Amino acid sequence: MRRVLVTAGASGIGLVVARRFAAEGDRVFVTDVDEAALDVLPEGISGAPVDVADEGAMATLATRLQADWGGVDVVCANAGIKGPTARVTETPLDGWRDCMGVNLEGAFLTAKHMLPLMGAGGVILFTSSTAGIYGFPYRAPYAAAKWGVIGLMKTVAMEEGPRGIRANAILPGSVKGPRIDRVFEAEAAEKGMAVEAVREGYAAGTALRSLVDPEDVADMAVFLASPAAKMVTGQAIAVDGFTINPDPQV
Ligand code: NAD
Repeated sequence: MRRVLVTAGASGIGLVVARRFAAEGDRVFVTDVDEAALDVLPEGISGAPVDVADEGAMATLATRLQADWGGVDVVCANAGIKGPTARVTETPLDGWRDCMGVNLEGAFLTAKHMLPLMGAGGVILFTSSTAGIYGFPYRAPYAAAKWGVIGLMKTVAMEEGPRGIRANAILPGSVKGPRIDRVFEAEAAEKGMAVEAVREGYAAGTALRSLVDPEDVADMAVFLASPAAKMVTGQAIAVDGFTINPDPQV
């Protein structure tokens, strides 16, 4: 039974990933900033309110996991926020900083405080995005943070590989759910388009002409955490239906 931590695991993709590891028979602990969502976690998944961007809170979490579990085997550094939707020239610095704080610094703090709890066979999975290999019009802070996550992941893979820890990044495309609905709404408003036209454009911009199910991301996480992926490290792996047009609307 592996000991699995999922940050931002009380809803969205993180919760689907957490459920999937729990279904595998693993012990699963999630963190989130949404206390209402933490209160209604499914059977078999426990959690606590922890902001990934708060170093003190992440250090306290590490102390707790060490005391309760004696370490951790799989860490899903999943927390991320969408950040501002605006051209670079209109992007407010505080929105840029908030986005970096959760998406990039949060991933860094997760790695910094959880890697010392991990031993040989440990796996850390970062949730980047296809925005982390393309530009993303109107989402510069998000794209920059998700590129940064890949640099962080590759460095962690190099530093921790000699002691048997693997690090990879999953790059979801547009994943069905409330978050992508918010993204499409914001983009439609910014571009003066209908929300459905934005949604259809994103699907049409992939080879498979489809958005991604959160379960597709969970399947990749479980594979990357498994012995079947024992020689896979330092990789940025897209789960996106193959993005052929990262800016379909412009
Ligand atoms: P979401 O917006 O649905 O949020 C999931 C959870 O994150 C929420 O419960 C929220 O409370 C929590 N959260 C927000 N800020 C937090 C913080 N500072 N500390 C801890 N928890 C926090 O997001 P999602 O769609 O589930 O995305 C999960 C990850 O996948 C993110 O890193 C996101 O950038 C990435 N991603 C999502 C998509 C998509 O289409 N949804 C695509 C590519 C990448």
